Amino acid sequence: MKRLQQAADYDKNLQRPCGPGEQPCLRCGRAVDTANDHCYWVHLLTTGDLIALGEAYDEADSQGLFPVGPTCGEKHLREYIGW
Ligand SMILES: [Zn+2]
Repeated sequence: MKRLQQAADYDKNLQRPCGPGEQPCLRCGRAVDTANDHCYWVHLLTTGDLIALGEAYDEADSQGLFPVGPTCGEKHLREYIGW
């Protein structure tokens, strides 16, 4: 379990509109093509914590899966992708 730390430019990036099939990256706010192989998914709880695959959590706290882009997933959230 790890507290989600959003990138410093998250709010700024979030202001740019996403295209069709895109959602904002949960970490940096940049548009992610969710159909792309390099789109990763992380599991967020209402507490603001991310859950690693296989880690125990209370289902009542789940907010579901959110996309992150390849750089955020591979460099910053490697242990939390794979959902
Ligand atoms: Zn990102």
